[in-house]
Amino acid sequence: MLYLFLISWYVFIGLGVSLGTHRLVSHNSFKSNSALKYILVYAGTPAGPPIQWALNHRIHHKTTDTEDDPHSPYFGGFWHAHCGWYLPTGNTFVAIMYALAGPIRTIIDPFIWKAFPEKLPRDLDLPLLKFMSRRPVNFLLALSHLLPFYLFYVELGWMGLVLGYMIAVLFYNIGDSINSVSHLVGSPDDPNTQARNWFPSALLTMGEGNHAEHHRSPGNANFGGFDPGYLFLRVMKILRLVTLKARRD
Ligand SMILES: [Zn+2]
Ligand SMILES: [Zn+2]
Repeated sequence: MLYLFLISWYVFIGLGVSLGTHRLVSHNSFKSNSALKYILVYAGTPAGPPIQWALNHRIHHKTTDTEDDPHSPYFGGFWHAHCGWYLPTGNTFVAIMYALAGPIRTIIDPFIWKAFPEKLPRDLDLPLLKFMSRRPVNFLLALSHLLPFYLFYVELGWMGLVLGYMIAVLFYNIGDSINSVSHLVGSPDDPNTQARNWFPSALLTMGEGNHAEHHRSPGNANFGGFDPGYLFLRVMKILRLVTLKARRD
């Protein structure tokens, strides 16, 4: 039962980051009913404040694998692209320590992101989204994702906390690998970037690992190949909770 809960915890946050923070807030690649939209955005809050995440990610798409890219392994190296850019640091040792910080990152990450600017693109200028992107609010929302640690402790004692810590480390590194590994390993499918498609990554990241396909068509909610995030959206579409656009950029 506990392991089922662990998997659900992982999938809930993973869908939140991939569908809420990334495909919906950053790319508007589907439309959703407000309740589902903000549940997805909430689920993704351990990745950082959604508006700041989206603004940064849009720069990544405009400048992919150039000197201006906030996180390219071709400029600054693997560890900088993986997680050093958050701090920001080019120091490999510091970046590796940060990669191993797991749940500690949930606590400090919100304050590393700068506050979002006053003037925002219209699609991000939404009261609830702005509220959820304020750093103290993002901190509290992200912190609530650590509540399962209490259950791990009740069920398994200190070993439960170690297990939760390890899963959090794994979770953050799998997410970060989209900026590092997904621009290095796998088949390139986008003529303009070094982004790659790699099945093992897609499997673990709700489809994000089909990264070349995503760079080739950023506004498409379907990342192609095996895409669990898109399968979830198809189910939501049947339930009439989302509208999928038939478009490719
Ligand atoms: Zn990319
Ligand atoms: Zn994107």
